Amino acid sequence: RSSVLLAGPNSENGGASDAKNLRVKLVLLGDSGVGKSCIVLRFVRGQFDPTSKVTVGASFLSQTIALQDSTTVKFEIWDTAGQERYAALAPLYYRGAAVAVIVYDITSPDSFNKAQYWVKELQKHGSPDIVLALVGNKADLHEKREVPVQEGIEYAEKNGMFFIETSAKTADNINQLFEEIAKRLPRPAP
Ligand code: GDP
Repeated sequence: RSSVLLAGPNSENGGASDAKNLRVKLVLLGDSGVGKSCIVLRFVRGQFDPTSKVTVGASFLSQTIALQDSTTVKFEIWDTAGQERYAALAPLYYRGAAVAVIVYDITSPDSFNKAQYWVKELQKHGSPDIVLALVGNKADLHEKREVPVQEGIEYAEKNGMFFIETSAKTADNINQLFEEIAKRLPRPAP
């Protein structure tokens, strides 16, 4: 059994995954307040609700997208809702994840440093073929920007990650983020 969640048709979770229809676990990591929940809500529900604080404990949402080559990818999205503070729990959280989306806030250098911590953590403990995406969120707040876009680009390049800046508020690049991840997923043999 692969350590990455590309479950077969007999998966106990009932989801079928084959060469045309992938089902993948995606985890979100990053400092509290960078916009992880808002990114997920924007992607799954098309909404921005600054007051919504989703749940106590890890929350879970899923969303399927279709690619141009007629494959579909169902993302099972795990949002820690703060549980990542308990470092000892983190490996349980990202075990079996095919994708890790590591988010920072472009107005917060601290959150960019924390993102780099999570990248190292995933490189050490994540699945070897995990797809890593680095996301600079709150791109709409350009007047308050403190992390130059070039820093994100360079760090991501050095670490073989996909990089994008997003705004959950304006919806900028949110769908693109998930589409680009989908394209980078390893495909199971047909
Ligand atoms: P989380 O702790 O990482 O899940 O962060 P949340 O999704 O709860 O967002 C934290 C705060 O940032 C909320 O007040 C959101 O309204 C705000 N926020 C999230 N995304 C954006 C964004 O793209 N632009 C702006 N301006 N604010 C955002």
